[in-house]
Amino acid sequence: MTIGLLKEPEGEHRVALLPESVKSLISLEVNVWVESQAGNHAFVSDTDFEKSGAKISQREEVLKADLILGINPPTSTELETLKAEQVLVCVFQPLSNKVLVERFLKLGITSFSMDNVPRTTRAQAMDILSSMATVAGYKAVLMAASHSPRFFPMFMTAAGSIIPSKVLVLGAGVAGLQAIATARRLGAVVEAFDVRAAAEEEVKSLGAKFIKVEGAKDEATAGGYAVEQSEEYKAKQQALIQEHAKKSNIIICTAQIPGRKAPLLITKETVAEMVPGSVIIDLASSSGGNCELTQDNQTINSNGVSIIGNSNLPSTMPLDASKMYGKNMVNFLKLIIGEFGALNLNWDDDIVFNTCVTHQGSIQSERVKSILFPSNPV
Ligand code: NAD
Repeated sequence: MTIGLLKEPEGEHRVALLPESVKSLISLEVNVWVESQAGNHAFVSDTDFEKSGAKISQREEVLKADLILGINPPTSTELETLKAEQVLVCVFQPLSNKVLVERFLKLGITSFSMDNVPRTTRAQAMDILSSMATVAGYKAVLMAASHSPRFFPMFMTAAGSIIPSKVLVLGAGVAGLQAIATARRLGAVVEAFDVRAAAEEEVKSLGAKFIKVEGAKDEATAGGYAVEQSEEYKAKQQALIQEHAKKSNIIICTAQIPGRKAPLLITKETVAEMVPGSVIIDLASSSGGNCELTQDNQTINSNGVSIIGNSNLPSTMPLDASKMYGKNMVNFLKLIIGEFGALNLNWDDDIVFNTCVTHQGSIQSERVKSILFPSNPV
């Protein structure tokens, strides 16, 4: 089998495999074709890829590989050139991308979306959502610190005492917990809030205070994810968050609900009451943002408060983010590469089945099927 690694589009600095991951794939007896300059932004040259055993190719050739790998899917025009027997493994957020899923169904290709890997213990080594959220949570705090006019830690100096910054983290999933840990390492006083009851212990174990709003819906059937809350709960939550936001210097927003608009937690009225010089980093910006004023991929200023909307911080740390992504990818590919490097799609394996979105014109993943086509299963 041949595996083709795509160069990512303009603005994306990661690459789906580093040479070390290419080497692991070649040991499985597959051929790897790498698009020329695919690793440029991650500080990896074509020569580095060649040394790992890959063949450097032009994009048209990479798109003819049996299995095409990337972070972003190929362009709309390129998709037209794909054949039904080809396999595509990338990240295309099927739950909020019905048009693309329908396109894949029509093409008949086998598509895997790495953000669809189940959140189970066995799948942890393939969980790109966790890897990328780790990068995003860390970088969000560094970005906030560099935009803030204040120190994070407390200082007792001859020039007087500096009180530590107050950081509020909204959403304590993987990114939120990493943000808490990073802000604590920098010496800030940290508070965090999440609708999932299980998050309380994790927040406290990192030395942060947990803000509790009673009455959250915490459904066991949601696979550990948050679910939409009642209007009464949302109003209570907004009021309490406003109280804490007013006293915070930094807010890191990470709250998300898969396949839905991000919950609105910081209203413009709350921003108006915040201390000038405060910084909001909104990692949920691509799905609407947790702050009402957030604009995706933009930094705005409101009443002296900087609001930075960025859902792709992993791209700003392309080397380690690509390293983690590549390792996750190889661990997943090992499940679908059989003897002598041949493709082996074992639908009895729950990770293979649930990560697969389309195959021969049908939807595989039960989660995608039930959310995108609830009344008309494909
Ligand atoms: P996510 O990116 O989907 O959401 C981020 C956080 O926002 C979550 O903690 C969520 O509860 C929270 N949130 C949603 N609505 C909110 C609201 N209105 N107010 C405040 N917070 C809100 O989450 P994630 O980081 O992908 O993690 C989701 C779940 O998956 C967690 O339970 C996590 O522990 C679990 N997980 C499991 C594995 C595994 O077993 N392999 C790996 C990673 C994560």
